[in-house]
Amino acid sequence: MNVHYQCHTCGTTYKVNPYIWKCTCGGVFDLIKGNVSFSASMVDKNTPSMWRYNAAMPIDRTFWKNITMGEGNTPLIPLEENVQVKVDYMMPTLSFKDRGAAALISKAKEMGVEHVIADSSGNAGTAIAAYAKRANISCDIFLGEGTSDKKMAQVKAHGADIRVVKGSREDVAEAAKRAVEEEGKFYASHVYNPFFYEGTKTYAYEIWEQLDEMPDTLIIPVGNGTLLLGVYYGCKELLENGLIDKLPKIIAIQAENCAPIAKAFTSGEQAALPVENTGTLAEGIAIARPARAATILEAVRQTDGQFLTVDEEEIAHSRSVLAGKGFYVEPTTAANYAGFLKYNRSMNEKVIIPLCGAGIKV
Ligand SMILES: *Cc1c(COP(=O)(O)O)cnc(C)c1O
Ligand SMILES: [Zn+2]
Repeated sequence: MNVHYQCHTCGTTYKVNPYIWKCTCGGVFDLIKGNVSFSASMVDKNTPSMWRYNAAMPIDRTFWKNITMGEGNTPLIPLEENVQVKVDYMMPTLSFKDRGAAALISKAKEMGVEHVIADSSGNAGTAIAAYAKRANISCDIFLGEGTSDKKMAQVKAHGADIRVVKGSREDVAEAAKRAVEEEGKFYASHVYNPFFYEGTKTYAYEIWEQLDEMPDTLIIPVGNGTLLLGVYYGCKELLENGLIDKLPKIIAIQAENCAPIAKAFTSGEQAALPVENTGTLAEGIAIARPARAATILEAVRQTDGQFLTVDEEEIAHSRSVLAGKGFYVEPTTAANYAGFLKYNRSMNEKVIIPLCGAGIKV
């Protein structure tokens, strides 16, 4: 599959190259693939992981087959009538980030990369560290001081060098970007690298294959929007190939204490202004200045979706309600269920809620 980068802001195109990660104008890259042609017969039924949709992904089998740990192919479980959870914490590193990390690191290996840098609030860093180790790529992960001990231990266990940065989540990202420039290393960013979304889009492909259609509505958490945008790209590809007949509504969830995109959505803006993160249990979605906010707003509007915010009490309460149903999730994931409880669903509307991160991570 022939692909190139295109700046989302100014439209400049670039050849894919391991050492560029944003446009000279500062804009983020979209991955341009032309039309992705895909049909049900192209699902690789012998591969019980997200790689069964490899025909729709610009990533070569030679590289992922040595790196994969069977990520994806997660179960859909009924919660109540018309409502299912997709248990995406059933992953090698216990969060959905494995979808994106497996794709991104496979691509990095294909490009001959030997050293990567990433920054994270925890789960993305863990996933990048694990897959980098499998690919025999050395790895530095930038984490904030406040990162949960368990997430920190998980990253360390995979042999990554942890660089702890004082300050906000944005300060952590800035430090990582500086190191990428100064040390000339590959930026394995789940936010900036478009190949990460080639992994997260399999969340949509799986639901389509599991149900033979799409539900009316997908609840999706949003910090940087890596699951949301992956799902949006995946659904668009399924639609273009006539495999579904409309885009499911995306209901995007943010924590009330850090909700820059929800705010922009409500006031009809095309872009989001940074907010102050006033602190939330949902640390995995606490992104005050999301780099892809404009695309996320476009995506939610395109699907006729909406944004909902949830407060701390709702998040804590939802975590125990889910545990009471057998699902032990991290607080960030409880926000998804809290958002679902607030969503004013119509009769017979079918909804899927993702359970993105395991409870023992925090
Ligand atoms: C990363 C993460 C999110 C949010 O994903 P974004 O890409 O930042 O929108 C939600 N839940 C969990 C468990 C995560 O690890
Ligand atoms: Zn540009």
